[in-house]
Amino acid sequence: MANETLGSIECLTCKNMMDVCQANRRGHHLYTRCPECKSDQTTGATRQTRLWYETKWRDDLPDGVPIKPSNVVDRVLTETLTEPLTDEASNSAASDDLTESDFLTETLTETKPKGSVGRLVGFVLLSLVVGVGAWKMA
Ligand SMILES: [Zn+2]
Repeated sequence: MANETLGSIECLTCKNMMDVCQANRRGHHLYTRCPECKSDQTTGATRQTRLWYETKWRDDLPDGVPIKPSNVVDRVLTETLTEPLTDEASNSAASDDLTESDFLTETLTETKPKGSVGRLVGFVLLSLVVGVGAWKMA
């Protein structure tokens, strides 16, 4: 598929949609054909990365097309790493943790002497023993 149009992307210079094609040469760099600005075959990593992630690829491309250009920087990784570090998220998470552990300590010290959980377990165990005893007697 020599120099076929694989997708389209907005031209940063004139805002027209331009064709995105892939070079057959080593490196598999993407290049664009803008109706206004003409062909741009520069292979800088920033530009290749933008073309790789922001091009609207055609729906009918065969498997393995387009080939990822050799110098595309992995954008997905950096985005997922920085996302949870927003101020709002970390603040609310920290305060939630505090209230929850405070609450847990309080409930534990209050309910432990009464042993309501222990009583329930004892009841279950007792009925098991009784049940087994009754079964043995029969
Ligand atoms: Zn243009």
